[in-house]
Amino acid sequence: MDIHEYQAKDILRGFGVPVPRGHLAYSPEQAAYAARQLGGQGPWVVKAQIHSGGRGEAGGVKLCKTEAEIKDYAASLLGQQLVTKQTDANGKGVYRLYVEEASDIAQELYLGFVLDRSSERIMIVASAHGGMEIEDLAESDPDSLVRSVIDPAVGLAEYQARDVGFRLGLTGMQVMQFTTFLKACYRAYRDLDAMMVEINPLVITGAGDLIALDAKMSFDTNALYRRPQVEALRDASQEDPREAIAADNGLAYVGLDGDIGCIINGAGLAMASMDMIQLAGGQPANFLDIGGGASPERVCQAFRTVLSDRNVSVILVNIFAGINRCDWIANGVIQAYREVGIDLPVVVRLSGTNVEEGQKIIRESGLPIISADTLAEAAEKAVAAGAQKIAAE
Ligand code: ADP
Ligand code: MG
Repeated sequence: MDIHEYQAKDILRGFGVPVPRGHLAYSPEQAAYAARQLGGQGPWVVKAQIHSGGRGEAGGVKLCKTEAEIKDYAASLLGQQLVTKQTDANGKGVYRLYVEEASDIAQELYLGFVLDRSSERIMIVASAHGGMEIEDLAESDPDSLVRSVIDPAVGLAEYQARDVGFRLGLTGMQVMQFTTFLKACYRAYRDLDAMMVEINPLVITGAGDLIALDAKMSFDTNALYRRPQVEALRDASQEDPREAIAADNGLAYVGLDGDIGCIINGAGLAMASMDMIQLAGGQPANFLDIGGGASPERVCQAFRTVLSDRNVSVILVNIFAGINRCDWIANGVIQAYREVGIDLPVVVRLSGTNVEEGQKIIRESGLPIISADTLAEAAEKAVAAGAQKIAAE
């Protein structure tokens, strides 16, 4: 789960990371007021809060000299979709702005904490050349990045933090500040079950101090149950609306670009079904795992979620019931017809526990459900029905 820059900065500030003072704003008036609260003569920096980097290049970060300029810029940004290098073509909606005091930048560094899956450890990645071109550098000159793997039994040791600082070319007092900075970021990462902490740029100011000018944090969703303070930071406006609905209903759902809606149990079977759909010449609209022990209500909710995607032209239900029961699934499909109102072809393939009972329920329902016995047959029938539906329109 991603959070906004201002939220990440609040968290990091709490762990002792130096960040600029700033205030959140939801309107142009609030943005101007935020600048007044910060005081001083300006300039101020107004920053679009979206779950994406690359805002600077996309026009989502602006240095403003007057309150009038802040208001104009805020008005032009709020309510718009901001498209960056990291978003899709639709971009992300800008509903919140962060107004900060402007920092005097002498040098921009890059600092990241990521999970290195090959060493199964948290790794520091840093560069003396941060800012907006770090991705180009990672491609053109990957060896220039400083890397350091943290031993979980020891934690981030002082000497290790100093070593990273020296390798970045820092000297004297800066190394001491950097050590404190690094350890604070590491604690935030570890204590809150983060997956990523990225400070880009980490700035050396004209006075020689270090400060986090940008901050990005993302968290392990599987650990959110024990981090309610992190879960509270979720902003559904930044998520794929289809995935947000699914998450609210506890369904494992990933939106895709095709037209064949999938309701499947088990992640493995869901992946295999998506492969079979492609083999049959179609494209899945989503990945959806309804999980074990799916009640009729849960099946019904899965239908609602899949149908919330306007591109869907056919639904494929593929269940291999172990813990699940085919009769429950069949009843769920029928309930979905009654409650959700389905005017698309539905292909159902049932197998496993109580399969005869499930098939009987489907047969006797009188509904125009297309049955299939095998996964391959189900995929072919779904692709054919979808093509027919699209042709009819
Ligand atoms: P993004 O990574 O999404 O482009 P950043 O927060 O990194 O957004 O901002 C882009 C650039 O804007 C930074 O590299 C920095 O040069 C400048 N910037 C951001 N915040 C400030 C600030 N408080 N003071 C001065 N410059 C800033
Ligand atoms: Mg940045």
